[in-house]
Amino acid sequence: MQMKQQVKEQFNHFLSRKNLKTTLQRNLVVDAMVELDRHTHVDELYLLLRAKHPYIGHATVYRALRLLAESGLVREINLGDGITRYRLARQGERRDYLVCSDCGGVTEFENGLVEKEQLKRAHSLGFMVESFKIELKGLCRHCQGRNSRTH
Ligand SMILES: [Zn+2]
Repeated sequence: MQMKQQVKEQFNHFLSRKNLKTTLQRNLVVDAMVELDRHTHVDELYLLLRAKHPYIGHATVYRALRLLAESGLVREINLGDGITRYRLARQGERRDYLVCSDCGGVTEFENGLVEKEQLKRAHSLGFMVESFKIELKGLCRHCQGRNSRTH
């Protein structure tokens, strides 16, 4: 509850800076993202919301997600499969992902060492880093097992 209120307040702040209105439907998208707290995409989220709120539109969900991503409250990742995934951002988080090229599964991991080294290097080149993302592609444990059975 606390979390929902906090995210909504920050989002409303962002919207008012952009001269956009807080709407019931936008708030529904925020609530759903806080409740889910995992990666989702617009089609899935739309179906989830529509089950409870039949009047909600696909375009509305899409636009709300885009705005949430723009505000930084929601993280957006593109893995090259044409599906944009979204997840609620955690404070101070980095974006490190293991991406399975077979099933498309996404696992998050943390390794502060790589980030630290990269930031140091960027800094020495006079570059101001605003975001940081590591993406490792390969096969997840599940798909490795499946592949070894079929080959
Ligand atoms: Zn996999």
